Amino acid sequence: MAKDKFQDNRAGNTVVISSKNKGKLAEFQYIFSKWNMKVITRDEAGVSADFDVEEDGETFEENSLKKAEAIMEICQLPTMADDSGLKIQALNGAPGVFSARFSGEEGNDIKNIEKVLDLMKDVPKEARGAYFETVITLLFPSGEKLVAKGKCQGRINEEPLGDKGFGYDPIFIPDGYEETFAQLGKEIKNQISHRAMALKELERLLKER
Ligand code: IMP
Repeated sequence: MAKDKFQDNRAGNTVVISSKNKGKLAEFQYIFSKWNMKVITRDEAGVSADFDVEEDGETFEENSLKKAEAIMEICQLPTMADDSGLKIQALNGAPGVFSARFSGEEGNDIKNIEKVLDLMKDVPKEARGAYFETVITLLFPSGEKLVAKGKCQGRINEEPLGDKGFGYDPIFIPDGYEETFAQLGKEIKNQISHRAMALKELERLLKER
């Protein structure tokens, strides 16, 4: 990919990350550094800390596009946004876009897990399939849009196990393993997670560009 393809913006080769999450920022920085691009936070791009985008889309794709559009409108730089969550077969795809606030309280991981386990208390092992999904949207001021998706298949355990990770990690056992993400830890998770897969796909799209 020619480096000058990114130079359709006032800061040369900068990408703004709409997320406030430091862990995600590090992952994205790693990918973009390969393309000689600099990743900056929304704060660094001059977006006010209390500017929030309502995540009211029906899909991860809609939400990630909405966030990228809103931030790009403010800073006029290439901008990327991601949205992710857990989809459980036995719950018809719930919690889906409501993953962060499934229990009614934004970001309460313990209550969210309790609600899932309660709803699934009579679901047998063979019907506990689920997957995590991430959608990343990268928008350019020129109008160009790249959309990368990643999935990680697995199943929901009957009880929370492990203390690493966040969100639904203590109840999610990825395919090919017998332990939850919260037991397996960062090293394995970063190789097989939905975010890792979406980043790989984004890298492929950037290469093809
Ligand atoms: P976000 O869009 O990446 O902020 O994710 C929204 C919600 O989905 C989080 O608050 C978590 O509840 C859940 N989630 C997303 N990714 C993961 C993960 O890797 N492990 C556990 N939970 C996750």
